[in-house]
Amino acid sequence: MARIVVVGSGFGGVEAVRRLGQLGVCEKHECLLVSPGKRFVYTPFLPMIVSSRYSLGDIVFSVEGFALRHGFTVVDDSVSEVDTSALVLSSGERLGYDYAVIAAGASPAYYNVPGAREHSVGLYSPEDAARLKDMVRGGVDRVVIVGAGFVGVELAGELLWLRESRGLSYEVVLVDMLGEPLELLGNKMASVKARRVLEHLGARLLLGRRVVSVDDKGVVLEGGKRVNADAIVWVAGLRGPGIGMPRGSQDAKGFIRVDRALRVPGFGGRVYAVGDAARLETKPYCLALKMAREALRSARVAVLNIALSLSGLPAREEYEPRITNCTPQVGLSIGPESGIVALGKSVAIESSMMNYYHEKMRRTYKRLLGGGI
Ligand SMILES: Cc1cc2nc3c(=O)[nH]c(=O)nc-3n(C[C@H](O)[C@H](O)[C@H](O)COP(=O)(O)OP(=O)(O)OC[C@H]3O[C@@H](n4cnc5c(N)ncnc54)[C@H](O)[C@@H]3O)c2cc1C
Repeated sequence: MARIVVVGSGFGGVEAVRRLGQLGVCEKHECLLVSPGKRFVYTPFLPMIVSSRYSLGDIVFSVEGFALRHGFTVVDDSVSEVDTSALVLSSGERLGYDYAVIAAGASPAYYNVPGAREHSVGLYSPEDAARLKDMVRGGVDRVVIVGAGFVGVELAGELLWLRESRGLSYEVVLVDMLGEPLELLGNKMASVKARRVLEHLGARLLLGRRVVSVDDKGVVLEGGKRVNADAIVWVAGLRGPGIGMPRGSQDAKGFIRVDRALRVPGFGGRVYAVGDAARLETKPYCLALKMAREALRSARVAVLNIALSLSGLPAREEYEPRITNCTPQVGLSIGPESGIVALGKSVAIESSMMNYYHEKMRRTYKRLLGGGI
């Protein structure tokens, strides 16, 4: 009997559990899920927590019952290190494995900007969202959001909607070193439309300006301009999950290197990485975007390869990211009444449909996992 360990219970981890269960792998083998807090977070609605359109119970679900139904035992811990014989947990325990799927997501990148980590709040967890909501509720004159990618743009939309609907008067400033919102998507029309919607809603955009330092009163931009703020949100990019691994297994940003079968080099085909945590070298200049749908697709490929290996067959399933900056297919909401859908390099539609799509997906996860916590 082999032991298969899934690390993380976000989109990738939950999909890995579901598929391993469906394939009957956990009837013949031991399956473990390492899940800090034993919970799944529906991340696309974190900005809606800040604006109080949703509450935490609407987007945070227990994974315990779901995992048990699929033949898993849940370990409430996190993995700090992976070596060739065991996963080292934060508690210090060593968990042996035959196969592991690392689905531990990503963490915020601060690029060594002085003060950024200490003086900002992120938007990557329910705790981040609740903290920011409290700050805004406590009364602010200005919120500075560093990062005009899709998380920054969605958050700006929610804060502007909240301001309008509650008759508040704070300023929302979006800062980015890139010249346009959503520039990394690689769809110019989407950037133009996002700028128009944001400006129409009343955002102030300070783009093409790098933040060089952050302190408790605001941010300083390249060239010395200071922007004071009562709340600073840092959503300027991601790095890997921060799990210790042998040399060569991770790139310079800590993302876990994988081959097309999603195997991490140096582990003899026994460790896989999926979702935001993974870094697959693809065509030059085409970067896979860190999106939930890619986490699901990669988890399915990794699980099939593990099932093949358990049957003595070669791991032959290959993963090809579909959502890249060369082929973006991304929808985002900018408050409840606006949004952008970017299809490919040149089509962008202004629409609020993502609100409906995400609400449908949220309900699907609520049903799948069996209720809120
Ligand atoms: C505000 C926001 C809005 C977003 N909106 C969208 C959207 O509209 N559409 C879209 O497709 N994508 C969206 N994304 C991106 C999407 O959330 C990610 O691409 C997706 O969550 C990746 O799934 P994952 O399983 O790789 O990681 P995650 O879903 O982040 O899950 C990681 C899991 O690993 C656990 N974990 C972390 N570290 C450890 C460790 N050391 N040991 C064990 N477990 C660990 C975490 O607790 C968590 O359970 C959004 C993200 C954010 C932050």
